[in-house]
Amino acid sequence: LGRYSHLNAFVNVANLETVLARVATAAGPSPTDNVDPRSPNGRLVAIKDNICTTDIPTTAASGILKKFNSPHDATVVRQLREAGAIVLGKTNMDEFGMGSHTTHSHFGATKSQCDGVERSAGGSSGGSAVAVATGQCWAALGTDTGGSVRLPAAYTGTVGFKPSYGLLSRWGVIAYANSLDTVGILGTDVDSVEGIFDITNAYDRQDPTSLDPTTRSGLPVEEPAPSKTLKVGVPIDYNISSLDPAVRKAWLRSLQLLQKRGHTLHKVHLPATQHALSAYYVLAPAEASSNLAKYDGVRYGSRAEGKDGTPESVLFAKTRGEGFGPEVQRRILLGAFSLSAQAIDNYFIQAQKVRRLVQQDFDKAFATPNCLNSLEYGKKADGVDVLLCPTAPTLAPKFSEIKDQKPLHAYMNDVFTVPASLAGLPAISVPIQVDKATKSESAGAAGMQIIGQYGDDKLVLAVARQLL
Ligand code: GLN
Repeated sequence: LGRYSHLNAFVNVANLETVLARVATAAGPSPTDNVDPRSPNGRLVAIKDNICTTDIPTTAASGILKKFNSPHDATVVRQLREAGAIVLGKTNMDEFGMGSHTTHSHFGATKSQCDGVERSAGGSSGGSAVAVATGQCWAALGTDTGGSVRLPAAYTGTVGFKPSYGLLSRWGVIAYANSLDTVGILGTDVDSVEGIFDITNAYDRQDPTSLDPTTRSGLPVEEPAPSKTLKVGVPIDYNISSLDPAVRKAWLRSLQLLQKRGHTLHKVHLPATQHALSAYYVLAPAEASSNLAKYDGVRYGSRAEGKDGTPESVLFAKTRGEGFGPEVQRRILLGAFSLSAQAIDNYFIQAQKVRRLVQQDFDKAFATPNCLNSLEYGKKADGVDVLLCPTAPTLAPKFSEIKDQKPLHAYMNDVFTVPASLAGLPAISVPIQVDKATKSESAGAAGMQIIGQYGDDKLVLAVARQLL
């Protein structure tokens, strides 16, 4: 931990004596005792700081929650502890999950380091990604609303998985945009990620958006056999002109690799993709503006200093002005505007329509029908099983380049991750080494994203395994 403290991956760590004692008891008499590569038993995990824990504060990297101690563990934390995982600490993030580089934190930025060069850790789960990439923990939990697990994975050379919306419980997870928020998992390989997924993928009646047991029981539970021939879709709309040549090469290489393994490649057109980013940046702030209204210093959040008798409206404004960072304030204003009477039809409603078009694009592309919105049964003969595309248009940018990045430029990092979020689909980012010839100095890997139909989480994990 000390060796990497300059990267600022953690906001708070657990009591280290307790952690060490637990590690010692869990280790067993011989180092070969814990050989199951998927089991978190006796292993260190880190938790993003917007997921509640009883033993360590939960701040969402916000000034307004800097003193918050949760009386409960989030369901996903409880599930991990019950499986024997040892929680090492809470990881840094963009405040409330709003950002793409983990620079918008009340506790300072997280940085990633590759061959001595400081780079963006991605965001908003950058602390979790760096904790995993540097080996400070075995695996970590993050949250992915529009790419916050996949982008940090892509920028730090780790594996980042966003399961289908509603599979993992959100109870005890501080809301950013409820209709998109998904708990995600980061690890250095598919085994650790899948091990945690298997433990946390369970119905939770405390979460009203948890997928009901009946629909769950219809979803595939096993990975398909590696010998099974799959149809891999190549979404040509992701081949944008600003795609970094190193990323394009890594994409081609991954496609060739899958082809060598016997899978077939198919061109797929997802026309609504080009509008997905704009729709996301209307919808997510709209939901956020409503979710964050409760932090007024009365029942929720730390209250600004104010004399007795200060008009309430003044104290609310002061509390929120001091407690929220500039990016969060920008999102609240954006969201409040797009929900206002004069703007709702042109912005919020339009964005909802785009969201539906994005979902329909995916449903048209996949062979398997979407069990949530389709009455069809059986596979479409001309559909694909999974899609393969880059996670981000560029490799991890240098930290010096993003420090003063304009908001719009930061939002562009999410252009390839938000479509799967809007559609609630499972998506994983895996690191693919970039060619020496095209390697942009020290950013060693490009993230490749595998997207599957709703509920095809095991299939997505199986394809990720074949790429690593
Ligand atoms: N970068 C996106 C945003 O700022 C996604 C964040 C996330 O997935 N939490 O909204």
